[in-house]
Amino acid sequence: MSDTESCDATADRFAGCLIGQALGDALGFVVEGSGPTVCAEYVESALRPRRLAGYSCGRFPLGQYSDDSQLARELALSFVACGGFDPKDYATRIATLFTENRIVGRGRATEQAAYRIAQGWPWDKAGTPRPAAGNGSAMRSAPVGLLLAHDTEAMIRTAHDQGRITHQDPRCSAGAIAIAGATASVVAQGRVEASTLCASLAEWTRPFDPILAAALEQLPNWREEAPDRALTRIAGIGSEPSYSDGWEGISPFVTPSVLWSLYSVLHSHGDYWEAICTAIAGGGAVDTTAAMTGAIAGATVGLNGIPPEPCRLLSDQGTWGYEALVQLATDLHGLHRQLRQGAG
Ligand SMILES: [Mg+2]
Repeated sequence: MSDTESCDATADRFAGCLIGQALGDALGFVVEGSGPTVCAEYVESALRPRRLAGYSCGRFPLGQYSDDSQLARELALSFVACGGFDPKDYATRIATLFTENRIVGRGRATEQAAYRIAQGWPWDKAGTPRPAAGNGSAMRSAPVGLLLAHDTEAMIRTAHDQGRITHQDPRCSAGAIAIAGATASVVAQGRVEASTLCASLAEWTRPFDPILAAALEQLPNWREEAPDRALTRIAGIGSEPSYSDGWEGISPFVTPSVLWSLYSVLHSHGDYWEAICTAIAGGGAVDTTAAMTGAIAGATVGLNGIPPEPCRLLSDQGTWGYEALVQLATDLHGLHRQLRQGAG
């Protein structure tokens, strides 16, 4: 493959990641918080046959994506505007989404941190302390893996730092590193090889959360299990008492959210749509599990591996639709090339 072809393939993966995340999020948003029975029915009646007309979430038509992808988009925008990661700039962007009431769906830890930032707290003090351990910092970390696919040490540090702006619990950093790390790996290698990928993710996350790391080491053994069996296994890992009540399927607790997303990617063997269907059929915090699944699966297959028709529905309250997100991916890829050449 020539350098130009290689560059085009990588650019396609960047676009696949951002669009794949936003589309998974938007498709999950319709049934966010519903249990596995409702979500599996939606998958069978709407997603698999691609009969999407008529679905909505409250006042939002299908295609609206939520806080997961808004915050991932703002992270990518911050990278491009600052020429790399500037935690103060990103913290301000998080706060602004809340103070301008543009955020769609609110994680409590993120919201509390956003208002502290708006009141002038520094970015490294504003994060909600443990034991709050939701998936809010993992759900937005895929762009870290895009920008820093060539530099593992910087990827880990940046996934951690962008995460602790809102979530100080190290389990949240582990989740953010796993999602950024999986994205970086598929961008760098162009494919998913389960045992190599999971061994790397376990190594990178272990200093932050040995429970997640131990589960990641086992994940290649679970990937061929049927989803209902894997769901039972994964939903309880790490069991954090504050998330154990009131959720059917995968709760917003970071550890099972991240593991279920990675399972959905690996179980689906690189098929984007199948991965999204698997993630959503698990029920629970499905806009987030489908967003994280979509980011990694989209980065694996590239934009050309994602069905084009539903992508055209993407919107954030009338802005930041398909074309704008693809342009942002192009800009982020340009910055990645600059950083990579500077490092080389
Ligand atoms: Mg959301």
